[in-house]
Amino acid sequence: MVRSTLYNKIFLLCLFLISFGSLQAQKKFTLVLDAGHGGSDIGANRNYPDIGAVQEKNVTLGIVLKLGRMLEKNKEYKVIYTRKVDEYPSLTFRTDLANRSKADLFISVHVNSSPSKSATAQGTETFVQGPNQNKTNLDVAKAENDVIFLDEKDKENFASYNPSSPESLIALKIQQSKYLEASLIIGGLVEDNFVKKDKRMSRGVKQENLHVLRMNAMPSILVETGFVNNYDDAHYISTEEGQQAIAESIYTAIVSYKKLVDRNVKEPEPEKPAELPLKNDFRILLMSTPNKYSDEDPALKGLKYIFTIKENGVYKYYYGTTNYASVRDTNLKTAKDAGFRNAISISFVPNQALASGYYTLEIYSGRDKLDSKSTILKSFPDIIRNKENGVFYYTYGRYKSIEEAIKAQKELEKKGIGDTVIEKKLK
Ligand SMILES: [Zn+2]
Repeated sequence: MVRSTLYNKIFLLCLFLISFGSLQAQKKFTLVLDAGHGGSDIGANRNYPDIGAVQEKNVTLGIVLKLGRMLEKNKEYKVIYTRKVDEYPSLTFRTDLANRSKADLFISVHVNSSPSKSATAQGTETFVQGPNQNKTNLDVAKAENDVIFLDEKDKENFASYNPSSPESLIALKIQQSKYLEASLIIGGLVEDNFVKKDKRMSRGVKQENLHVLRMNAMPSILVETGFVNNYDDAHYISTEEGQQAIAESIYTAIVSYKKLVDRNVKEPEPEKPAELPLKNDFRILLMSTPNKYSDEDPALKGLKYIFTIKENGVYKYYYGTTNYASVRDTNLKTAKDAGFRNAISISFVPNQALASGYYTLEIYSGRDKLDSKSTILKSFPDIIRNKENGVFYYTYGRYKSIEEAIKAQKELEKKGIGDTVIEKKLK
């Protein structure tokens, strides 16, 4: 089961690795090795008449130090230990250390124990971030601003990084699923080596809600190296030979994983032919409503780059303007993910003059009549005043195309008159 999923994941990893490519080329591959438990926290343990006390904290430290020694011989790796002696660093310390170090990979080593007295459970298993904890990971990623790394394409698509905006949340979600895919790959490689090289029994790669996985902003795995209450396992993990074999299996998996990283850095996917622009512009229609919203209104669900056109007393709110199909599709997805389920893409012919009618700018609308001394009325002596259903509307200018109206709107903004709306007048 582990192997069958592996190849599916490799393709996804490629996408992930390309995005981290430039970063990887410059710095060493940083690993945080975490020997589970320690100090007063013994972890899983059992006493056997022949082999004596088997304590998780000692087994995990033994394996991690052996693994670290192997990695340190290779100049490409930078190894950071959460502990090198018999002490207890808190779980928060361990994950903070990993996040601060901007590690490429986090590996936590543990020893299992089954609740049943029969001790039938045996073998290894590796845990990755659970499917339902994306929210926590997301919160961690949001808090760890420095850790956030959006690739060039993401940056283009999501414009500006603002942790509370829906666009950035979507980018973060993509990043989280990339970590999960990468974790599944390294986990699969580790379990694969346990089976093939060490002839151990593997219980596979599983998803679980564990602190060290949940609070890390990088690919992370937790390896359960054997069951303390299974005699064969306990014997194996407590010997130097068994610990060395486990360390080697994890080491080989790390080397294979890094090879995938390097291969993708050196041989990026062949460049796709540049996307050609379309003839028309596309804007995503979010909603049509008689209500007028300002840029920051919650009704717009945090989306920026809103373009509003008023037509027959109804305000139409559009998101994004592009003449590229790929950006249009991304914009539509962003709008739907933000909560505009019925959003649709609308095509606009650029610089199209209206056959009849014109565009104008709604400078002001409100239940209060503007004072004759107001800046607006002083700036626009020939402003057109209207009153409908108790609301005063002040409009200004006549423009043949949307583009002309947008230009006028921008000029007004420069003069400090914002929040104007382009209105389409059909007569
Ligand atoms: Zn443990």
